[in-house]
Amino acid sequence: MTPASVVIVGAGLAGSRCAETLRAEGFEGRVVLVGEEPTPPYERPTLSKEFLAGEREKVELREPEFWAEREIELVLGRRIESVDLLHRSAGDGLEWEALVIATGARARRLPFDVPAGVHTLRTVADAAALREELGPGARLVIVGAGFVGAEVASTALKLGAEVTVLDIARVPLERVLGPEVGGLLAERYRARGVDLRAETGLARFVDDAGGRVTAVELTDGTTVPCSTALVAVGAEPAVELVEADRGGIPTDACGRTAIPGVYACGDVASAWRPSVSRRVRVEHWTSAAGQAASVARAILGREQPYDDLPYFWSDQFGLRLQHVGHAEEWAAVEIEGDSDSFTARYLDGEGRPLAALLANRPREVAAVRRELAGAGLAEAA
Ligand SMILES: Cc1cc2nc3c(=O)[nH]c(=O)nc-3n(C[C@H](O)[C@H](O)[C@H](O)COP(=O)(O)OP(=O)(O)OC[C@H]3O[C@@H](n4cnc5c(N)ncnc54)[C@H](O)[C@@H]3O)c2cc1C
Repeated sequence: MTPASVVIVGAGLAGSRCAETLRAEGFEGRVVLVGEEPTPPYERPTLSKEFLAGEREKVELREPEFWAEREIELVLGRRIESVDLLHRSAGDGLEWEALVIATGARARRLPFDVPAGVHTLRTVADAAALREELGPGARLVIVGAGFVGAEVASTALKLGAEVTVLDIARVPLERVLGPEVGGLLAERYRARGVDLRAETGLARFVDDAGGRVTAVELTDGTTVPCSTALVAVGAEPAVELVEADRGGIPTDACGRTAIPGVYACGDVASAWRPSVSRRVRVEHWTSAAGQAASVARAILGREQPYDDLPYFWSDQFGLRLQHVGHAEEWAAVEIEGDSDSFTARYLDGEGRPLAALLANRPREVAAVRRELAGAGLAEAA
């Protein structure tokens, strides 16, 4: 039976897409979208790119009137601390017949106090604060050469900052893209002016008498002076509303959790992928949007499991990187092209492609998708 009311916790991409899809599919019951941030749903990927560069100010996903026109109740600036599963309530006025947890992820923090001037980047408020610190004369140290760290490094250089990036891995993005592609990227970062310190960790931040960061001490014993720092060591799913471990909230392919009437989607969800016969949690825009639509349909009794081929992009150092497919492990990587434009194919032990990374080759994405689907392994994975 279709529920009469849906409460969605988390007004990010997944939460808002779920609300929109409910209405687009004709749902006439109550829809409440609750978010702890004071801002209406917005685009997060721009925070490390155009928004940080000052090239884009408007980040909202929809025009302000969009929500009221669709009778989607937007409750902003309200953090849900807990949910009462017995009485089906997320707080006063937030009783539900279906609950969607779309709480996303949070920037991972270091397990100690950090001085002023040390940032993380997840929200538009974080990005605005970091933007204030960048510009000619700024000296930025970034801890972590993942996607967010690399994108911020790229943007900060454009803004005229001096940038040092440190990472304990041998090359940037080694775990996700492998040493060969990571090596190519490392060369590019250095050629563009990044002081990249590989296999180097953070020992401690040095601050002045006012408690403001002035330098970063590294595990190799050296000290890098800085005016600001970014800790970009990954994100953790915001799972605290239900019992779940740091791997995310387990769901089926339609976003149903083990609790009747409770769904999860987006970065917080660890969703079953029929094509690869396992649960997968990803932090990608496209998956968050697709899972959210699938959850909305499941709530309405219209089964449409989400099992699309994973896809994400990243813009850094003049490269548009586009990754298609699902390879957590691979036997070999084949790279064709040069550092300005290349395709890297991730192959299994029998030479079949599991995933591909394209650099500045947007027109090849569709063909690569077909190739991966044709290989059977990643069929709609
Ligand atoms: C800087 C940056 C750059 C990125 N770039 C890319 C990119 O180039 N390509 C790509 O594919 N992906 C990118 N991503 C990832 C992409 O933005 C995420 O996958 C996507 O935003 C996930 O959407 P979501 O709705 O699941 O979570 P979020 O966008 O994190 O939204 C969750 C919302 O829930 C709120 N919330 C959490 N807990 C509660 C609570 N208890 N009560 C109320 N509200 C709560 C949070 O405040 C947040 O607003 C980037 C992410 C970041 C941070």
